[in-house]
Parts: sequence; structure tokens; C-alpha cells
Amino acid sequence: MFSGTRATGRLHIGNYLGAIKGYLELQDNPNYETIYMVMDLHAITTPFDSAKLAENTKDVIMDYLACGLDPEKSIITAQSLVPEHTYLAHLLSSEITVARMQHLPTFKDKVKQHPKHVTMALLNYPVLMAADILLYKASLVPVGIDQEPHLEVAREIARKMNEKYGTDFPEPRRFSTKGEYVPSLSGEGKMSKSVEGSYINIIDDLETIKKNLASAPTDSGKGEKVPEEGGVANLLTLVELFEGEDKRKNYELCYMNNGIKYKELKEELANAIYEELKPIQEERKIYENDPLLVEKIISEGAQKARKIAGQTLQEVKKKIGLI
Ligand code: ADP
Repeated sequence: MFSGTRATGRLHIGNYLGAIKGYLELQDNPNYETIYMVMDLHAITTPFDSAKLAENTKDVIMDYLACGLDPEKSIITAQSLVPEHTYLAHLLSSEITVARMQHLPTFKDKVKQHPKHVTMALLNYPVLMAADILLYKASLVPVGIDQEPHLEVAREIARKMNEKYGTDFPEPRRFSTKGEYVPSLSGEGKMSKSVEGSYINIIDDLETIKKNLASAPTDSGKGEKVPEEGGVANLLTLVELFEGEDKRKNYELCYMNNGIKYKELKEELANAIYEELKPIQEERKIYENDPLLVEKIISEGAQKARKIAGQTLQEVKKKIGLI
């Protein structure tokens, strides 16, 4: 199993529910070998601050550890410490066309977000992701639903490589969680750390969570039909994810009858989110106070990953006919 999160800041509750919960479930299954990385090479596909990149990478590693990823059970490291990823990405890039990459909805979204940074690295993002996964011959990838088009690319490349060169790459499938799509607080699209005002970080305190929720858009609280998209729909999804389905149904009934009091809804939701995050925040302090331990986990993880990665890369180079 392989997965990763870009090193573009702290984890938010979308990453936590959509990805990390899946990482944890697979890590605790003794039938699986699990590899989880912080994708710092993917982080440089959109504008980034080089003074902060290493720090951001370590922050996400600490978030992983605080959430329960365990170096005794999983390989945990940073992508850039395993150079085989970029090498394999180059080999795989000869099996997919520029047009296929340009048509991906994820690429188009990023072009809209950063029109002045449409780089080769951005275009090649899904190929690097295919390399990340195929390098470990991973068959299951715990990621949010937004990554499905990229997994399709990875499957396509795996098929082509297997047909053309006789490699034995499995076609990776997505491992989904209940929170596979956590909506943005702003009422539009998914929660994303690259969109200000859209997220709640897992290290946020109760006051910050309340403040962020306070600015989530609402309506009059009453109507014939519960909205299916926009601010209110998103708040109800968060209610379901953190307070359960029954609570959501109650609010839906309120909406069609007496009306929802959003101040109360937001207050309760903030408390429920904080209750879930509090133990993670306490655990994180252990790692914040022991930077050497974090360094050790990262470098040992890289060594273990390189052993597997090096083997696959050798196999592929030989099959392609490189010297
Ligand atoms: P972001 O979009 O915030 O930059 P990443 O692209 O680094 O997040 O994604 C890291 C992981 O978190 C991926 O598996 C992705 O599918 C998942 N993820 C990101 N945002 C969400 C979300 N809003 N809901 C569910 N999963 C998400």
C-alpha cells in the first residue's frame, strides 16, 4: 500500500478524514505492507517557499505520527529522499501523451488557480504519482476521491508497461474512507490547503475552529428543500462526519420545519471537531519536543523504501533495455 500527502502546509481535516484514516486502517491490517510519504517533490509543482519546504515536510511527518502512523508498522519518510521516484517517473513519462495530461480535470483546476505557474512539473504531476505507486507495486492507495483521475492514469501506465515490457505492475485501486470528500468551508469545492478560508487544520484550537466555522456561508435556515450544494450543504456534511448521520437528519428536519439556528449548529460542530482533534494535538507535542526522533524516523524510513524502490527500478530499466 502506498500513499502520501503534499508538503504544502499542515494537514487539514479533509486530509485527515479522506486519507489519513485510510492510512491507519491499512497500517493496522497485518496482511499489508504500508508506505506513507510526505510528497515534497509534488509540493514544488505549484508555487512554494523554498525557505519553508523542509520545515513543511517535517510538519506533515509529525502530523502523521500524531495521528497514529507508526514507524514500527509502516515505512514513513519524505519522497525526495528516495530518488528512484523521479527516475521511474521519467521512464513512465514515455508511455503517456501530453494531450492526456492536459485534459485531466485536476490539471485544469490547477491552471485556473495558478495561471502564471503552468510548469512541466505540474503537467507531469500524475506521472510522478504513478511512479510513487508503481515503484512499490502497490495495489491499494488510500486517497480522497479527488485523486481518482490520477489513479486512472497510474492504471493506464501500469497496463501499458505490462503489455509492452512484461513488467508485473498491479493496477492500483483507491481505498476509500467515509470522509472521501470533505467540502470546503467557503461553500465551494473541496477543503484544500491551497484555498484560504476553506479548511480547518488538525492543529487548530477550539477558538480558531469556531472562528473559521463562523465565516462559513449560510442562509435563512429554512426552506422547502434542504440545499444539496453550497455553504449549508457543506456544513451538514461536516455535521454528519463529526456528529453522525442522525444529527444530520435532525438538522434536515429542522430546516423544513422550525428552521436551523446556525449559531448553535456551528458551536456544536466546532466542539465535536475539537474533541476529535484534541488527542492528536497532545500526541504531536511528543514529536515537537524530540526533533532527533523525527529525523531518525525519516532517515530509517528512506533506507527501507530505497531497498524496495531500487529493486523495482532495476527490473524496469532492464526490461526497457537500458544499459
Ligand atoms: P490539498 O488538496 O489540501 O493540497 P493534497 O493534495 O496534499 O491536499 O491531498 C492529500 C490527501 O488528502 C489526498 O489523499 C487527497 O485525496 C486527500 N484530500 C485532500 N483534500 C481532501 C478533502 N477535502 N476531502 C477528502 N480527502 C481530501
